[in-house]
Amino acid sequence: MRYSQLLIPTAKEMPAEAEVISHQLLLRAGFIRKLTSGLYTYLPLGTAALRKVENIVREEMNRAGAQEILMPMVQPADLWEESGRWQKYGPELLRFKDRHQRDCCLGPTHEEVVTDVARREIHSYRQLPVNLYQIQTKFRDEIRPRFGLMRGREFLMKDAYSFDASDEAAEESYRKMREAYIRIFTRCGLEFRAVEADSGSIGGSFSHEFMVLAKTGEDTLVICQSCDYAANLEKAKAAMPVKPESSEAVQDCVKVATPGMKKVDKVAEFLGLSTQQVIKTMIYLADSELVAVLVRGDREVQPVKLKNLLNVTDVELADDDTVWQKSKLPVGYIGPVGLPIRFVADQEVMLMVNAAAGANEKGHHLTGVNPNRDFTPAMVGDLRQVTADDCCPLCGAALRLTEGIEVGHIFKLGTKYSEAMKATFQDADGQEKTMIMGCYGIGVSRVVAAAIEQNHDQNGMIFPLPLAPVQVIVLNLDLKNEAITAAAEQLHQELEAAGLEVLYDDRDERPGSKFKDADLLGIPYRVTVGKGVEKDGTVELRARCSGETVMLPLAEAAREITAKIKAELTAG
Ligand code: ATP
Ligand code: MG
Repeated sequence: MRYSQLLIPTAKEMPAEAEVISHQLLLRAGFIRKLTSGLYTYLPLGTAALRKVENIVREEMNRAGAQEILMPMVQPADLWEESGRWQKYGPELLRFKDRHQRDCCLGPTHEEVVTDVARREIHSYRQLPVNLYQIQTKFRDEIRPRFGLMRGREFLMKDAYSFDASDEAAEESYRKMREAYIRIFTRCGLEFRAVEADSGSIGGSFSHEFMVLAKTGEDTLVICQSCDYAANLEKAKAAMPVKPESSEAVQDCVKVATPGMKKVDKVAEFLGLSTQQVIKTMIYLADSELVAVLVRGDREVQPVKLKNLLNVTDVELADDDTVWQKSKLPVGYIGPVGLPIRFVADQEVMLMVNAAAGANEKGHHLTGVNPNRDFTPAMVGDLRQVTADDCCPLCGAALRLTEGIEVGHIFKLGTKYSEAMKATFQDADGQEKTMIMGCYGIGVSRVVAAAIEQNHDQNGMIFPLPLAPVQVIVLNLDLKNEAITAAAEQLHQELEAAGLEVLYDDRDERPGSKFKDADLLGIPYRVTVGKGVEKDGTVELRARCSGETVMLPLAEAAREITAKIKAELTAG
């Protein structure tokens, strides 16, 4: 490919609109252009990078026995009514009417459509298991499309759906996908972790997220320093608390004036206690019902754990006015003793002795509060957020918190969709049974962005070889010099003939801008054809990642470079 004939509109300046490095570099390097919020056009190199990810995903899905299909992007509302999601799915679902006034939506995911295929086409256990996948554009009207390809409104996803005859078979399908995902992200050359995840609005009983480790990740991961435990912070289990040995006599509950002291640390200091001895009462709106949540004063509530315990679709912290309007309770002085609204407690709270808590009266707290004697929560569970000071819930070793970008998510769905949509089959015993489903997504376009977030320097992107839009760039440093130009042209041809993806920089530009662009584009190998050709018949090969350079005799350059790249690709 000749650079001079390709649309690669690089820019020197940092685009003002881009906050994260992948977005900045994708724009600067001319990989993508914005159409409007959350919608991008992929220019030639952007498209090539996308295809690289897509091909790895496709190969590994096929190897795992999944079958590629392609479903429509426009979906009829009827199907979504059947699953119940027409009502449940929020404004991320782009809805519209066709010319016959029929409600439709743009597919943000395809459980409904694929379940419809399964119920029509699969009737017997003999046809199971089946795993159907597609690589297709999704549309989600994200509230905050941002960070370029990381969170677009339109993006490329690989989504797969498995159908099985039994729970055990479904778990086997899940295991296969987990292995396929590990192969996919390893082959992409990315540093990643599979973590235990929340199943979110899709529901279901088991799920893992695949996270590319990068500082700009929107998710926080909890990773054990010693064993295999790794979880999304939303899901990370707190180690089971042990009741401390205490000779302290159980005190009576006493009301004390704590004027103006709404914050835990103020109350603790005033009462001469540690924050661990104060019960913090947080008020949430859970599907619009007020619910109080008790955690130890030095802890934070983890909203996703709360949402799961309460089995609601949405929880958010209630503001002071809402709390007052709905309950006449004074925020800052609320506590569990005699609390007139429903409340739940973190498991640690139930082990507290002689705690302090709000008295449900402005300017007052109670001391000597003891669980079970003074209050009984509607439910008790693991509700607090894990911190770096916690120990691994499995082995007790130290934990590490780190940021990650979610590039894939696998769920064991169970019968959520197959039951609602009556996807049944006849089992070997003649019984009519419901298919057990799993679903498995990969954000193909997000993988491109995540690869850049993880691999870049101040000069530009540094693509892992398997994802690079081209593998090697040949720089002609002097178009007017016949010997140099002849050598560069020859090298370009030889490398292409050897099956490599080559970009030949034949532009009439200064060497400085050629070097800069080669770095910016993140192409793994750069061959510079310049004065060395005339001096001693050599060219320079440089690896983008390590910066290492070697001089190669022109006659052997193509063979050596090809061997190096092919060896690296098979080793990875
Ligand atoms: P997120 O929590 O980031 O919104 P999600 O849980 O909604 O992701 P899934 O429904 O599991 O995502 O979709 C599968 C994959 O698609 C995700 O793992 C992610 O890599 C990718 N993805 C989801 N939303 C977007 C988006 N708006 N832009 C780009 N990729 C996305
Ligand atoms: Mg989402």
